[in-house]
Parts: sequence; C-alpha cells; structure tokens
Amino acid sequence: MPTPFGPEYVRAIAPYQSGKPIAEVAREFGLDEASIVKLASNENPFGVPESAKQAMLRAVADLGRYPDANGFDLKAALAARYDVPADWITLGNGSNDILEIAAHAFVQPGQAIVYAQYSFAVYALATQGLGARAIVVPAREYGHDLAAMAAAIDAETRLVFIANPNNPTGTFLPAAEIEAFLKLVPAHVVVVLDEAYNEFLTPEQQYESAAWVKQYPNLLVSRTFSKAYGLAGLRVGFGIAQPALTDLMNRIRQPFNVNSMAQAAAIAALNDTEFLAKGARNNAAGYVQFTEAFDELGLQYVPSFGNFVLVKVGDDDGAGARVNLALLKQGVIVRPVGSYGLPQWLRISIGLPQENALLIAALKQALA
Ligand SMILES: *Cc1c(COP(=O)(O)O)cnc(C)c1O
Repeated sequence: MPTPFGPEYVRAIAPYQSGKPIAEVAREFGLDEASIVKLASNENPFGVPESAKQAMLRAVADLGRYPDANGFDLKAALAARYDVPADWITLGNGSNDILEIAAHAFVQPGQAIVYAQYSFAVYALATQGLGARAIVVPAREYGHDLAAMAAAIDAETRLVFIANPNNPTGTFLPAAEIEAFLKLVPAHVVVVLDEAYNEFLTPEQQYESAAWVKQYPNLLVSRTFSKAYGLAGLRVGFGIAQPALTDLMNRIRQPFNVNSMAQAAAIAALNDTEFLAKGARNNAAGYVQFTEAFDELGLQYVPSFGNFVLVKVGDDDGAGARVNLALLKQGVIVRPVGSYGLPQWLRISIGLPQENALLIAALKQALA
C-alpha cells in the first residue's frame, strides 16, 4: 500500500451531507422538477428579496473588477444596524466561512474545541479540519447544556461553539443563560455564538448579543444572510467581535471572500424590513401548521425557535431513512439527520402554506 495522501485527521472526516438538490431528486425518481417541494436546507420559501435582485442587477456592471476586499458599504450598513464600529465586523462567504476562519485563527492542531452533541455539523468539520481535539458535550433535552460545556473547558481548550437557536434541533437558550455562561468562560477562550436563525425569534425572545461583544473581548457573534434574508446561494455572512479577534480573522480570510454581487444584495436585504416581517409571519404560521399536524399524527417533535422542526418519525434506527425515502418518492425533500446521531428523526424546513400542506399529506402517506 502506498502512503495515503493527507494527514490522518483529514482522512477521518465524514463529508458534509447537504440537502438533496431538486434537479437530482427529479433525475433519480423520474419526477417533474416543478412538482418537487424542497424543505431540506432551511432556505427562505420566498426566495431572493426583490430589493436584493435589483441591487444585484446594478452590481453586474462592475463585475469585471475585484470586489471591495474590505466590504466598506456592507460593513457600514452592519455597523449602523448593530451599533458597533465597522472594524469590529468580519465578512464571510456565508457564516460557514466565519466559523472556519475563527477555528483557524484561534486554535492550533492539538488544542481543543468544545461544542454540544446534536449541534451544527460544521463545528465538527472545522475542528477536524485543523487537527484539533473535539470535546463534544452531551445535549440536554436536545439542546446545549451550558453548565456542562463550561465544566468541559480544559487547559487546551481555545474555542467554544454555541448555536442559538440550534440546528438541527431548533432549541433556544434564553439570554440570561448565555450571559451566565460568558461570565464562567476563561478570558483566553473564544466563544463563537452562531445566530444563524436569530431573525426568527419573537421580539420577547430577542436579546442584544452585539452589546455583549462590547463587554466580552473573547466573544464572536456570527450571523448570516442565508436564512431569513433569502440569500443562501450568494454566500454571505458576518462576524462581530472586538478588534483583537477581528484583526486575526482578517489576516487569514481570503482577501476577496465575499463577492460584489453578494455585498450589494446583502445591503439591500438588510434594509428590507418588509421582506423580513413577511418571512417571520409565514414562519410562525407554518410552525403552527406543522406542529398541529404532528400532534394529530402522534409524532414527537422538539419545540423549535428556527425555521424548521425536528420530528421523530419512528422508534427504530431505520425510521428516518425509511420515511425520507418514502417522501422523496412523493417529491418532497427533507433532511434525514442520521449523521447527527438522530436516525429516528427528520428535520423539516418550514415552507409556504401549500408546501407545508404537501409535506403533511406525503408524511401521512409515508407513515401509513
Ligand atoms: C445554516 C447555518 C449556518 C451557515 O449558513 P451560511 O449559509 O454558511 O451562512 C451557520 N450556522 C447554523 C447553525 C446554520 O444552521
């Protein structure tokens, strides 16, 4: 046997499983693309906001030039929105990029990263990708056990990932719990607070994480334009942290990691409060539609604070894959979560009312 390529820790990585693309399901199952409903990747069911489309059309004229490497206009808009200096912001090719950049900027091979069981898959990927050690803390009621996570921080730990709300379980940590955690974490350990679904929280649940950044030099808040803002295909996200962290992140990010169309579209979407409000209303109604149906079907689900619901579709470890296949045959794409250690569950994104109705009908059929 020849010596294999690459380090052992890279060869050990299980590839990320994304939601199946509509075209692939159409090919595999002989279905018409137009009839397929995709509720698999927590995307915005309204698609790209019209305001962002117009901004992108205007940006086309300048695509012959490199993007603004410092994202001046987008950072200015974000700085105004979150009341932080523009040089506290790092732009990312999706917030996935921010999570990766943070891991590489603050952790070296052999050091440790803490994250929760059943939390976002990218935390494990980022940890393994740099040859760091993962400290995976058992979940409590499918969410983060912050007390256990604080206790799990050891001498080699340099970073903690927290998703709030969490994906794929949809659980939520109230502000007071996060603040108590921040007080316990040693000053040299970076806390990455991943708020990809923050915009779906009600006003009562909202909290000012950007204000915490002013208080905690070891806190990095991460946000995305992929979910509530409807720009998943463009890849744009951002981090907010004090300059000590932000400076290091900007040294290792790719100089042009956010393209000019994405920068223009993100500014437009950020200011499109009507689009955001429409999405929030649809999401709240869709959550009721789903959970009433799950209750009627006697299916257990984890109460969700995001734009998706984790639902248990059987008691055996083949249930998720089996029901997923039965749904695919009916042209409905959801996300099996066996790779998260949840083989009896499916994660279903909230769509438009008629898409949700199709899912519910297909699910009834699949379970019958
Ligand atoms: C979707 C998601 C992200 C990243 O999305 P991007 O498209 O890379 O911005 C980050 N964290 C969580 C928890 C997510 O679910």
